[in-house]
Amino acid sequence: MKKLTQIPVFVLLLIATFYVPAVLIVSGQGMTPTPQPLPHWTYEGAEGPTNWGNLDSRFAVCATGRAQSPINLSKAQMVPLTDIKFDYKASKLNIFNNGHTIQVNYDAGSSITYNEIPYNLVQFHFHHPSEHSIDGQTFALELHLVHSSASGDLAVVAVMIRQGDKDNPDYAGIFNNLPSTQGTPTPTTLTIDASRLLPASKVYDTYTGSLTTPPCSEGVRWLVLTTPIELSQKQIDAFSHLFEDNARPVQPINNRDLLADQSPAKP
Ligand SMILES: [Zn+2]
Repeated sequence: MKKLTQIPVFVLLLIATFYVPAVLIVSGQGMTPTPQPLPHWTYEGAEGPTNWGNLDSRFAVCATGRAQSPINLSKAQMVPLTDIKFDYKASKLNIFNNGHTIQVNYDAGSSITYNEIPYNLVQFHFHHPSEHSIDGQTFALELHLVHSSASGDLAVVAVMIRQGDKDNPDYAGIFNNLPSTQGTPTPTTLTIDASRLLPASKVYDTYTGSLTTPPCSEGVRWLVLTTPIELSQKQIDAFSHLFEDNARPVQPINNRDLLADQSPAKP
């Protein structure tokens, strides 16, 4: 997998935020040129997904990239895949509204291991409706758990969320505390356990793609769990009232492998 040499950890922590430039300017010592602020971007209109690549040269790969995300997951090649080994611990609920989504920055100490490479869980966030689709079907929400390896490679675990009959207690701490206005990460007294956010079945599809927000950097290992979990309509509405549409449209798969596990007996 390609290395994401262009994505330092602070960018990862602040993915999809537009106060990154302010942080850079404040921390600048005058010895290095101050980076130009990244442009504002949105999910509709002139600053929307079809124009992201034109907003700034640093966003160019959004338009020119050949390995962009999300995609429609269809006709996956069935091969024996290694399990994703989850080692998630509880974290303080560092929840905030970054203007593009609700994000939770995760305390250090939780990780996945994939193909013998450990990736630390850095943050998770949501999209409404889902960004990936499965055989053309979209879901109410999609959860992205963003991980980074020691060498800066990214792996994102995606969880599809559909409407169910009752409130999901494992998501209640998040969905009862969605910050309605844009702000910075603020620790709450609540805790969250990311292992409780996953479906029981960890069967997944995988491909190499990109960030789904500017700068759309490629080289991201996507691990999409194909078994949806359920939230109540009330929980879904709590998010969609804040973010009616924060999903990038699906991108062409081009010349990429989409792989699915061929062993159906896996739990
Ligand atoms: Zn995302």
